[in-house]
Amino acid sequence: MDVNSSNIEEIVRQVLDSMKGGAAPSPAAPAAGRDVPKAARVAMLTQLEKFELKEYNIPELGDDDMLVKVEGCGVCGTDAHEFKRDPFGLIPVALGHEGTGEIVKMGKNVKVDSAGKPLHIGDKVVTCVTLRDDPNITMFDMNKQNVGAADVYGLLPDDKVHFNGWFADYIIVRGGSSVFNVSDLDLDSRILIEPCAVLVHAVERAKTTNILRFNSRVVVQGCGPIGLICIAVLRTMGVENIVAVDGEQKRLDFAREMGASATVNFKDFQGIEALAGGVKDAFGGYLADFAFQCTGSPVAHANIYKFIRNGGGLCELGFFINGGDATINPHFDICSKEITTVGSWVYTLRDYATTFDFLKRAKGIGLPMEKLITHKFPLEQINEALVTNLKMEGLKIAIVNK
Ligand SMILES: [Zn+2]
Repeated sequence: MDVNSSNIEEIVRQVLDSMKGGAAPSPAAPAAGRDVPKAARVAMLTQLEKFELKEYNIPELGDDDMLVKVEGCGVCGTDAHEFKRDPFGLIPVALGHEGTGEIVKMGKNVKVDSAGKPLHIGDKVVTCVTLRDDPNITMFDMNKQNVGAADVYGLLPDDKVHFNGWFADYIIVRGGSSVFNVSDLDLDSRILIEPCAVLVHAVERAKTTNILRFNSRVVVQGCGPIGLICIAVLRTMGVENIVAVDGEQKRLDFAREMGASATVNFKDFQGIEALAGGVKDAFGGYLADFAFQCTGSPVAHANIYKFIRNGGGLCELGFFINGGDATINPHFDICSKEITTVGSWVYTLRDYATTFDFLKRAKGIGLPMEKLITHKFPLEQINEALVTNLKMEGLKIAIVNK
């Protein structure tokens, strides 16, 4: 798709030069870019469990804005919650925050992405939810600190722009948003950036314990998309002694493909002592040095301490939403074993940039990342896509535009 990019860059340069030379451009002057239709579709969630494809006129771009033609967008658990219950009270809303697409039009002030990389018409981009004034700020900090407002495309209230989510033909990326040029990644990889950033962040959190090392024995509990990507991130770091725990054989088989050295099906064991024995056997008679808890089950949280050796570490990242209380024994589970625990939630802007490298590395060592996307639906079938997600069928569900 890069055949015309040099040509287009030339055109853009000419347009920009002509603007510099002459009188100040009138506010009505169109931004440089490709031909785009006057109107385009947005999948608008207009009531619970119902998206409608609405057609809106594409508004004039501001000098700092970009018009991006959407190529695809992953369906997130957050989208499923909105679809089912509207917990954020956003209806009507244009959802979709795991999207990617191609710049087709740019305001004259748009020059570089959030990492300082040049942006041109034809470049493939993603947006990120965090703020660019401090790359270490996470969504978690936004709950706690006054760090100002952030644009989270796909979770914005509807307004007169309408093109605010990635479940659409086009999206308008407004000035001041975080945006990354990811033209060097294929479409499937770009759709996986957001969930992968969650795991890059979790592993960075795990590293702060100083327990996770090159030759660590690591247990990953839960083999949904999060657990599977966790295994992949560990593999790209050179960690090879990974035991995956889940109750579904199909997912455990996939965990092996992603690089787990052994798997444990918890359904094969009666009680936590027996299960911990199973994990120990899988490591050849040792408990884990480090554990990643990737399920949303409080019981799984309570269990995981039993898999970890004295002096080991734990990263808990399974609870994106309140999943209820877990019962642990502080003496046996934490104090007497001296377990170091970290929690992890979402990611920072910096983790986003790391994720692009991770995706290239995962491909480089032959991990089947693209197999994580088990379902692709066209925009017209967005309701089916959400229903499929709610049924917990498959792994990553994505909307892919023609
Ligand atoms: Zn998400």
